[in-house]
Amino acid sequence: MNKKISYLITLFLCCILVVVTFSGCIEEEQKTKESKELPKTVVKLDQPSILPDWKDGEYHDYYGTIDLLNEFEIKYPDLVNVFSIGESVLGKDIWCIRITNENNAKPKLSCLIDGCIHGCEWEGCEACLYLAEYLLINFDANETITHILNSSEVYLVPLVNPDGRQKDDRFNDNGIDLCRNFDIDFGRLRGGALRIGKLFGFIKIPYIDFPGKEDWNLYFNCGRHPFSEPESQAIRDFMMDLENNDFSFYVNCHTAQHCIYVPWLAFKPPFEMTEQETNLFHYVFNWVEKNTEYEPVSVLIANNGKRYYDSGMAQDWVFKEFRIPSFSFEILSKDYEPWMSSGKHDHLVHWMNTTLPLFMYLLVNIDNLHQWRTPDIQPSLPEGVPPEPLQ
Ligand SMILES: [Zn+2]
Repeated sequence: MNKKISYLITLFLCCILVVVTFSGCIEEEQKTKESKELPKTVVKLDQPSILPDWKDGEYHDYYGTIDLLNEFEIKYPDLVNVFSIGESVLGKDIWCIRITNENNAKPKLSCLIDGCIHGCEWEGCEACLYLAEYLLINFDANETITHILNSSEVYLVPLVNPDGRQKDDRFNDNGIDLCRNFDIDFGRLRGGALRIGKLFGFIKIPYIDFPGKEDWNLYFNCGRHPFSEPESQAIRDFMMDLENNDFSFYVNCHTAQHCIYVPWLAFKPPFEMTEQETNLFHYVFNWVEKNTEYEPVSVLIANNGKRYYDSGMAQDWVFKEFRIPSFSFEILSKDYEPWMSSGKHDHLVHWMNTTLPLFMYLLVNIDNLHQWRTPDIQPSLPEGVPPEPLQ
């Protein structure tokens, strides 16, 4: 009899335990959902938007960029915040513009697009400025853009390498390739990088071109150690801050390979991508192929089918560090290659309009990218975007 009672008591206590645990789970689940819930993206394809009134040939150097950023801040005080994230070797500020509806205090996701990490690749800077103006002039008139700025903080750093931009030079003022200076697969010969730094503290050796049979025999000076340069330190520290701010995707803009890259370009990736991550990158690749004039380029380039490696890349480091979707976007076609500062810059407005589909696609899918879900929302685009390819 006593045994039966003790069984019943044990059963009763077990039931209570199960109920308490289960209800706790439901409560926890609801809390989790509540804290992550963000407004769903509204995309209305019939919504018109207008393009910035830019003229071909009018590029923005360091001072022109500052003037334009100040103009945005004065004209759109409720949407724009301009601030410096650090200084270059020669003491120039590295400016960042944050675009968001400051009057909307709901939880927001953040993203970062930067340009001109290679100073001779001007169009990355211009693409950030053009996107900024496009978002600002259409806020409140176009529902998709209004929604983007209500639900996300768009951070743009047009000139990661202001000294290089002023000298039309790929490298920073220490002769270092900033996009080989990140702490990922750092300084590997197979990744085209040499850990030279500044020889004896004053001799700059930006790159070495070894003669050989290989198609790819250029080795860039990546610095003596990861993040040795003030510019890469500034962007690293800024991204560390964004991590506490629901950092959702990153685009590192270059010219002029006419494509997008995704991780890994590292020779020895620190971990294997999950199936979900691989699927998302493939989905974006397919989307880019169908909807933009750019090509998706994985690690196999038209280099006799050989695997292509780059050590110390910003996009790889961001993926490794924050585990978010991360892209290199090579604007322009290869005909406009500003290779080692000897190329031409032309048809600015055309090339800016080719960048909008990708930027808008990533922005309307920011929530999907943040959750590593299929980014299947189509952006609404203004008439004439994307433009017909140049003849
Ligand atoms: Zn570049």
